[in-house]
Amino acid sequence: MDGARTPQTPPVLILLGPPGAGKGTQARMLEKEFGLVQLSTGDLLRAAVAAGSDAGQAAKAVMEAGGLVSDDIVLAILRDRLAAGDCAKGVILDGFPRTTAQAEALDEMLAEAGQRINAAILLEVDDVKMVVRIAGRFTCRACGEGYHDTFKAPKVADTCDCCGAQAMNRRADDNPKTVMSRLDAYHEQTAPLIAYYTDKGVLRRVDAMQEIAAIQGAIGALARTVVA
Ligand code: ADP
Repeated sequence: MDGARTPQTPPVLILLGPPGAGKGTQARMLEKEFGLVQLSTGDLLRAAVAAGSDAGQAAKAVMEAGGLVSDDIVLAILRDRLAAGDCAKGVILDGFPRTTAQAEALDEMLAEAGQRINAAILLEVDDVKMVVRIAGRFTCRACGEGYHDTFKAPKVADTCDCCGAQAMNRRADDNPKTVMSRLDAYHEQTAPLIAYYTDKGVLRRVDAMQEIAAIQGAIGALARTVVA
């Protein structure tokens, strides 16, 4: 298969799909099961906004409006993160690339390091249902575990199943109006990557309207063919 990996190079997986498809949840599963590092440009950008860095200040308004942050900013942040030592274990890119320019830049970055993309896993969902999914979601501030009012409520209200913290957080951009803009941005600027990775022979599709555990099973099976 294309995307086959030589054992000397760390695996590189991409999770593709619209906002709400479950990329973050699945990336965390891959991190735990396969010892890979989750790289979420959304998380990196939110950290930059919280830190008030130049990049964060430039990104804030665009993120609140549901648009895409400029390629320059995102690429600079990702390049820095990829250079950190832990990425030698292999990475799952969650929410990156989101434009063709980002995808081409990623190919170049990886080629410089003798690496390549082993699989771009597309989480296929029904857009209309994404608004409901996103409007009900929240995460634990302490450990990052994701929850949903309807689909994955914590066992004890407001308390994280994983770490016990009582510090749940709902994202400012997880409201119906901003979600519509984010879906538009996905269709206009990110969906062309499906053809991009199909042409490279690395696209893998997963039905992401199933239950979380079933999606995990399908993605885990795909990941195993790459990471094993
Ligand atoms: P979701 O996948 O649910 O939209 P993310 O956390 O991945 O959430 O992204 C949140 C926001 O951060 C996006 O709406 C966008 O403004 C910005 N962002 C994240 N990743 C990128 C990227 N690769 N390129 C441009 N903007 C990005």
